[in-house]
Amino acid sequence: MTDTAFDDRNARGEWRPANAITLAPINTWPPRPAATLKWLFGFPGYIWPYNAFWLGFAALTWAFLTPDLASMATLELWWVGLLLGRNVAFVTVLFGGLHLYFYVFKGQGDELKFNAQPLSTGSRRFRFKNQVHDNMFHTLVFGVPTMTAYEVLTYWGFANGYLGLFDFGGSQVLFWGWFVLLLFLAPIIHSLHFYFGHRLLHTKLLYKPVHALHHHNVEIGPWSGLSMHPVEHILYFSTVVVQWLLALHPVNALYQIHLAAFLPALSHSGFQKLKVTKDFDLDGGNHFHYLHHKYFECNYGGSLTPLDKAFGTFHDGTDEAHAAIRERLRTRRAALK
Ligand SMILES: [Zn+2]
Ligand SMILES: [Zn+2]
Repeated sequence: MTDTAFDDRNARGEWRPANAITLAPINTWPPRPAATLKWLFGFPGYIWPYNAFWLGFAALTWAFLTPDLASMATLELWWVGLLLGRNVAFVTVLFGGLHLYFYVFKGQGDELKFNAQPLSTGSRRFRFKNQVHDNMFHTLVFGVPTMTAYEVLTYWGFANGYLGLFDFGGSQVLFWGWFVLLLFLAPIIHSLHFYFGHRLLHTKLLYKPVHALHHHNVEIGPWSGLSMHPVEHILYFSTVVVQWLLALHPVNALYQIHLAAFLPALSHSGFQKLKVTKDFDLDGGNHFHYLHHKYFECNYGGSLTPLDKAFGTFHDGTDEAHAAIRERLRTRRAALK
């Protein structure tokens, strides 16, 4: 099976990559220092280009599209509205842009697409009987305001001195060292928080009333990424609370919010990779999360951290992994009877 295997689709039009999903080298034991360093600093790797791109985007947003921190000490409509408006614009351009590219202009055709079926129209599962319109509604009406509310609270908290209090006794070296360390760790914090929050959403208490809405999307497109119940939005974006507790600078929190807001666009594209040029493509954890939407009880986190492997829920896309997960679920259900 090759990477461009349209010919290799099964009778249901499904395609899967030839290679099994592997976890990031930081998770291997015994450690592989050379592979880890290459992954951390190489291209493509942990930092370059994907996370660095979003870090640059957060820095530009802070520098040019965010009011002065002191002016956000009191909650006022003008700056809250400004943040909401620019976040609506960011999400619309990113999610809408990827949707147009993949599904309207068919920029990649069906190359690297997991399922040849179109996104759903006519199903009562979705608001307006249209998957894309339903997904846009939940993203823009509930998702972006929740994201913005966390951002507003962040600036208001920093401007009033409620956040970022601990300053290493005024040491600039330690302050900026801590700043860089938290930037470096932000994608890992996102991955850990997402795993535990996601497991919580799959409990009996929260699955049906809350998380099932996201799982209406069995086949996924970019707009599915933030199509969640409002309670899930509150839980999902609460990853920034980690930065409220640790960060000394609002940019750390902004970057954390941006990762939560923007990563789902690509990870829900329905394609294994976004082909940028003939020789370079972006893989935003797409196959990993696609398998979660397809089989539900696997791949709750991402390939960055070892939690799925540790808890026996890691599906690497192979038939062997599929059989092992089925067996584990059968045993668990039998034990509950
Ligand atoms: Zn999802
Ligand atoms: Zn889920």
